Amino acid sequence: MLDGIKDYDDAQRVAERVQELLEQPFGLSGRELFVTASIGIKYSSGGDEQPEDLLRDADTAMYCAKALGKAQYQEFDSRMHSHALTLLQIESDLRRAMDREEFQVNYQPIVSLESGRICGFEALVRWSHPERGLISPSEFIPIAEETGLIIQIGRWVLKQACLQMRSWQKAFPVTRQMKISVNLSCKQFMQPTIVGQVLETLRETGLDPSSLKLEITESVVMETGDYAMNVLEQLSRAGVELSLDDFGTGYSSLSYIHHFPVTALKIDQSFIKRIGGGQNSEIVRAVVSLARNLGLEVVAEGIETLLQLDLLKALGCAQGQGYYFSEPVGEESATELIQKEERGEFLSLLGKASAGGSLLEMTDSLTNSV
Ligand code: C2E
Ligand code: MG
Ligand code: MG
Repeated sequence: MLDGIKDYDDAQRVAERVQELLEQPFGLSGRELFVTASIGIKYSSGGDEQPEDLLRDADTAMYCAKALGKAQYQEFDSRMHSHALTLLQIESDLRRAMDREEFQVNYQPIVSLESGRICGFEALVRWSHPERGLISPSEFIPIAEETGLIIQIGRWVLKQACLQMRSWQKAFPVTRQMKISVNLSCKQFMQPTIVGQVLETLRETGLDPSSLKLEITESVVMETGDYAMNVLEQLSRAGVELSLDDFGTGYSSLSYIHHFPVTALKIDQSFIKRIGGGQNSEIVRAVVSLARNLGLEVVAEGIETLLQLDLLKALGCAQGQGYYFSEPVGEESATELIQKEERGEFLSLLGKASAGGSLLEMTDSLTNSV
């Protein structure tokens, strides 16, 4: 409570002073500790506002400050309130979505860039909201994480994906070599029962562990250290494969990676987007050679153009996934892709890439400059 301040600037100055003071380390049992403060400010116009409302608004502003990163301050504005209400609404809808069967799993093929064959599919959850339509996982997964609902959703996705792969394997021999990749978020991974859950799902669905790949992000692995190592080792011993998703976006300690039993790196799509424009191919090249030296598979995410595909092939990237081959699609369309693969027709997508002399020449000259 700041009494007698003239305007918002006064409050801002106090917030800055608090943060400056907290920048100093604290001594605790002979160690130096650093803390940061996120501050939300609500400037009262002195009308008939209720104390609860002022506190609520300051709290909302504080959460916005936190979301912006550490040690920030933010003044409340009414858009924050409506944003918070939307999130609250999504959260309460999310709680009901499972029972109302509003989730669906889509599948996106992962393709061998050398042979053009489908090596597997990544399972990606979709939420079809009765009023808002399709809500992207990047919007609702963080809320599901925060509320813990991700555990229930994640378990369901894993089971659906394993059932689907098993049923494809029974119907189409070509899929027996394929793998199904399933994303695990941090909270899912941190459940003490995660290994048991995965193994039980495999048993229930009859899917062989070697047909399952779990994708986790590097930050999950790095932040949870020994715990991660232990879980990954148990999964790996059971025959499940592990990929590091969105590779390059976190703060990987390269010296760490080869200690973890991961089998693949997925290069984040932000790096793939930039190649072809002449810049940033170096990072992709470095990751590909890192993976090769560590004996890991490497998968490029987000391939959208023929040019990107050709450059990735030239850089020696073995596998890829992206709209160029197919968007994530529902079960039926994914089955059609498998049928195409069986008839050898999926290959023609890549066939296009190596045909067309002028394109090849263009790629060659670009490749030389890569
Ligand atoms: P991700 O695991 O890195 O998945 C790849 C994302 O890239 C997917 O977005 C996919 O649709 C998108 N993508 C694929 N090819 C292209 C392309 O050529 N261009 C562009 N621009 N995008 C492409 P999606 O489905 O929206 O999922 C976003 C993220 O949400 C996923 O990133 C993953 O981290 C998370 N997610 C999705 N499904 C699940 C799930 O079942 N469980 C958990 N825990 N997370 C999930
Ligand atoms: Mg993924
Ligand atoms: Mg990714």
